[in-house]
Amino acid sequence: MQYHYIFGPVPSRRLGISLGIDLVTHKTCSMDCIYCECGKTTELTLEQKEYVPFNDVVKELDHFLTHHSDPDYITFSGSGEPTLNSCLGDVIDHVRSKRPYIKIAVLTNSTLILNPSVWQALLKADLVLPSLDAVSKKAFLKINRPHKGADAEEIAKGIEAFAKAFKGKIWLEVMILPGINDETSDLMELKEAIHRIKPDRLQINTLDRPGTLSDIKPASRSNLERISALFDFPNTEIIARVGEDVKAGIMREEIRGVIIETIHRRPCTKEDLLKILGVEKNMIDTCIDTLLQEKKIVGKSEKRGIFFQTIKEES
Ligand code: SF4
Repeated sequence: MQYHYIFGPVPSRRLGISLGIDLVTHKTCSMDCIYCECGKTTELTLEQKEYVPFNDVVKELDHFLTHHSDPDYITFSGSGEPTLNSCLGDVIDHVRSKRPYIKIAVLTNSTLILNPSVWQALLKADLVLPSLDAVSKKAFLKINRPHKGADAEEIAKGIEAFAKAFKGKIWLEVMILPGINDETSDLMELKEAIHRIKPDRLQINTLDRPGTLSDIKPASRSNLERISALFDFPNTEIIARVGEDVKAGIMREEIRGVIIETIHRRPCTKEDLLKILGVEKNMIDTCIDTLLQEKKIVGKSEKRGIFFQTIKEES
């Protein structure tokens, strides 16, 4: 079956093995952030509707769950703002009915968080990852280029109210772009909002691939560390890859390919792969399971354990 609305699963630095669900058409969002990895927003809207059909999404999801190992997380994200889809809550209910033990995460820019149906849908998740890059109007307009109906202070207040009502975890992400939203006065307003919201984790990020503007630059590690100290909030982590974190890059995008390449050259046990790739054990387990199911590799029992190797094609 060719999937249109689900993607992955991908090994994620933050969520383990995560299966993505994209509930909007490319590129539908209430913002047009200058750093967006999905490209320029073509439908800038605050209107909620069934951007992609509920029935088609759950059909794909059911097919995936029947034919693959369970992911650690099912994550709503993709090519725009997932809370714009009026069926978000129904899709979450469907996942819960099929696999109640799989965790559910929603990435959101929080523009609609005070909308009652969005509020109710998000309450059903295990993890909500709101982004908040600016509270000052000037910086908000510059970095997020929002729909004219969106207001940064309202968004911050909405996240704060939601965080009080929510029983799951909140990981608040702040994207920092030098010269755009890192003036001290902007950062101080953000700091106040962060301390009011009290997320379970504060995650500071910067650009790690091209955004929609060519002249924006990532913040340096030392700048991010300075900002982290200025925020002075417990449970803060810098999640930006900023150069040296090559291991995380491999984890996110290419682990399956790297496993195949590695064992094509030389059969390996899971322990060997753990040492070579340096990723979490559950990621190796899941990738090996899916490669075995897809008959791309086989395991052979030897003295030192099960050695995995690629299946040689008949010539
Ligand atoms: S809110 Fe997210 S999806 Fe929308 S433009 Fe910004 S980064 Fe892209």
